[in-house]
Amino acid sequence: MNLLIMGPAGSGKGTMSAQIVKDFDITHVSTGDMFRDAISKQTPVGLEAKSFIDQGKLVPDSVTDRMVKERISQDDCLKGYLLDGYPRNLGQANALDEITKEINRPIDLVINLVVDYEQLVSRITGRRICKECGAIYHIDNNPPKVESVCDICGGELYQRSDDTEEKLAVRYQEYKNLTEPVIDYYREKGLVHDVNASQDAEAVMNDIRIILEAV
Ligand code: ADP
Ligand code: AMP
Repeated sequence: MNLLIMGPAGSGKGTMSAQIVKDFDITHVSTGDMFRDAISKQTPVGLEAKSFIDQGKLVPDSVTDRMVKERISQDDCLKGYLLDGYPRNLGQANALDEITKEINRPIDLVINLVVDYEQLVSRITGRRICKECGAIYHIDNNPPKVESVCDICGGELYQRSDDTEEKLAVRYQEYKNLTEPVIDYYREKGLVHDVNASQDAEAVMNDIRIILEAV
């Protein structure tokens, strides 16, 4: 099963992805995580991506498409993959069509997480992430047992530098202008399943499970 998970920043893509890949034994591919990893390792991709990410803008397609192609062509994606954060514009959607054709791993369906802007603000500004294992927390909705310490691995929690209200506004505008047309593109193909992601995390996951178990 090859899936896309879509929705604006803070809609819960990373949180739901962690559960989906566990329950359905597929591989999580997050372009945002890949860029952050590349930045911390100061690779050529990381150096190119950094200034765009710092502004809340999209990294150029040439860099992003190549990175995704390499990643989903790997053997661990043969059992199925979940793409999180890609494609984010129509150019990337066209590139993904080409890539999936070439490697013969087509998209089966798209989960679209729907949340209003006010909730995104509180989710993004309260988000904390483990430096070691990437687990996602929220200071109010899903706090760690010990402040700033990951429940799973004991790693230190940090706040992403782009998780400010100001940068969210830019990222949301990018989403509205560039990414919503991608959802329409997949909707026309009959692939999109909308999920009310303003419910609590367990209810959102239950709705996703019902969709995926019907495949
Ligand atoms: P995205 O990957 O779409 O940017 P995340 O999964 O990182 O979103 O979630 C953003 C923040 O919202 C995190 O702090 C997470 O703990 C919290 N969160 C995710 N889903 C829910 C939910 N259904 N209800 C409340 N908070 C949530
Ligand atoms: P995310 O972790 O999905 O919120 O992504 C964080 C940032 O990484 C975004 O604001 C973009 O700057 C960059 N990014 C992630 N995925 C893509 C993509 N598919 N295309 C371009 N930029 C991306």
